[in-house]
This record gives sequence, structure tokens and C-alpha cells, in this order.
Amino acid sequence: MIKKVAVLGGGGFIGNHLVAKLKSMQNYVVAVDLVRNEYSESAADEFHIKDLRDQNFVNEFFTTNTFDEVYQLAADMGGAGFIFTGDNDANIMHNSVQINLNVAEALKNSNTKIFYSSSACIYPEENQMDPQNPNCAEASAFPANPDSEYGWEKLFSERLYLSYARNYGLDVRIARFHNIYGPNGCYTGGREKAPAAICRKVAMAKDSDSIEVWGSGNQTRSFLYVDECIDGVLRLMESNHKQPVNIGSDEMVTINQLTEMVIAISGKNLTIKNIDGPVGVNGRCSDNQVISKVLNWKPDYPLKKGMIHLYNWVNSQV
Ligand code: NAD
Repeated sequence: MIKKVAVLGGGGFIGNHLVAKLKSMQNYVVAVDLVRNEYSESAADEFHIKDLRDQNFVNEFFTTNTFDEVYQLAADMGGAGFIFTGDNDANIMHNSVQINLNVAEALKNSNTKIFYSSSACIYPEENQMDPQNPNCAEASAFPANPDSEYGWEKLFSERLYLSYARNYGLDVRIARFHNIYGPNGCYTGGREKAPAAICRKVAMAKDSDSIEVWGSGNQTRSFLYVDECIDGVLRLMESNHKQPVNIGSDEMVTINQLTEMVIAISGKNLTIKNIDGPVGVNGRCSDNQVISKVLNWKPDYPLKKGMIHLYNWVNSQV
């Protein structure tokens, strides 16, 4: 069946990949974003350059169009250099909450199924102190204590959509993404995340340079290749699982190990220099027990394979 779908934030990194995938499945795809994707042409049938904070626009958009599915990925976001410095907190909270308030309200009582992209950043800081043993099980989210306003906004918006599901029948699916990476995403300018930033630094380095890595480098994370993220989102949308679920890899590495991996991929002779910088929690890794059970699937794309794709792409850009 051809579905009519909307991708909010369809000009962003994940949104642009999602639009391409939904088009390849023969859907009619409408993207909305403040901007077009910088690195890749959109495959969308319609691309609306609009501000989703504008309630009048959002109401009109969902009154004049009826969608089978809406994917809500629009957010004011970035990597550690954007969300952990404190400099962008008011905008992060105001802009993203406003978008989600508008979307939830405009879709209440509709027959549209909606996907909301939450984040691993909602998990309590105290459960992520030990880099080798972080707890990111879905059930550990409460009592809440995210380490950033970005995480608090995501947690609030999860609850917003769940409230609309409870009171207005909104048919919602929610994923907590864990560090999604891949080509055609931001790699410079301040909003880039660790994998793309490290690839840029390595790609620009000359033999015997040192690569600056924020923090001790012993902080751990897991990273999920964007194609697998989208696979997970589409499977979740097909499922009946209506509570938030992790979509992430459980291949955990330290940031220095990630950097060593990229250096090895580049074939250059480089060293690592750990410097002060915004880093977030000590450890974080996707707990995939729930997704394995409810979707009978979990991501398994090897980090090295994905990082080769990302490095080659970033290297071609710089
Ligand atoms: P992104 O910044 O590339 O995409 C977000 C898009 O939203 C951008 O294109 C931006 O222009 C758009 N946007 C922001 N404000 C808008 C507004 N007022 N009106 C219309 N469009 C607006 O980010 P991404 O990496 O593609 O992430 C997509 C979603 O997934 C976001 O909600 C993000 O918080 C969430 N997420 C991403 C990751 C990750 O690792 N990339 C991890 C956890 C959660």
C-alpha cells in the first residue's frame, strides 16, 4: 500500500536518510524543515521550508494534509559541544518543546500514526558513572535525572506524546536513539557529534600530528549506523509496542578506542591528545533486551564497517 507520510526534520541527518528510505518503499513523502540537507538532495515528493514552532503553520499543515504516518525528528540539537556547554539550553528547551506541543496538539484525535525520536540522553546521570557498566535499560529512566537540558526536554516530550496517547488516542511510537552516525551528517561548525568530529580531525591531520579528544578518552559510548537506526524505526512503527524503546548498538567503546579505530582506517601515523572539553556522562551503551524481545530484532552492524563509510565520506568533504 502506498502511504502518505510526513518527515518533520526531513532536512536533518537522520530525517534525510529516512525520507530516502521511505521513498524507496514507494511512499508519498512530504518533508518539513527549516533548511534543506546541506550534503544531499532530498528524495521527498514535497519539501516545505517551514518553522514547526509556528502553531498556525502546523495546524494548517495537518488540516490540509492527511497522513498515514508522521515521523517527528525535528529538534534543536547537536553533539556535546552544543548540548553540554550550557550556552544553548534555553533554545534547546524552548524550540523543541514548542515543536512537540504543536505536533501533538494538531494530531490529536487523528488516525495518523506518529513516531517520536527521543534520546539516550534521558537516562539518569547516576546510572552512567561507571564507564564499563552503564545502565540504560528502558525501565531505569525514573526517578529521572538526565545530565542535560536536552535530555530533560526529550523526557518531557516523551511524556507529552504518551499523555496525548492516553487522553486523545494518539497512536505513538517512541525510540530513544543512541548516537546515530553515518554519511551526510554535520561534521563541522559546532553541532557535530563525536564520530564525525573525530573523522574530520583525522582526515585533516598530517602524519605525526596529534588528534585532540575531549575528556580522558575513557568515557564509553555505543554508536549506531544510520541505516540500522532507520530499519529499527520502521520495524517499531509496524509493531504494537507503545512504550519508549532503545534503538542503539550494544558494541561499547571508549572515545579513545573510537579515535584509534579512525586513525587505523585512515592509515595515518597519528597520536591522541586528551584535552578538557564537554563530555557528558562517563559511560553509555544501549541496552537491547527490550527491543530484542518486542521486535525480535536488534542492530548488529559492526562499528568498524560503519566508521569506514563515515571516514571515507568525511574525507571526501574536507
Ligand atoms: P539534525 O539536527 O540533523 O536534524 C534535526 C532537524 O530538525 C534539522 O534539520 C533542523 O533544521 C530541524 N529543525 C530544528 N528546528 C526546527 C523547526 N523549528 N522547524 C522545522 N525544522 C526544524 O539531527 P539528527 O541527528 O538528524 O536527529 C534527528 C532526531 O533524532 C532529533 O530529534 C534528535 O534529537 C534525535 N536524536 C538524534 C541522535 C543522533 O545521534 N543523531 C541521538 C538521539 C536522538
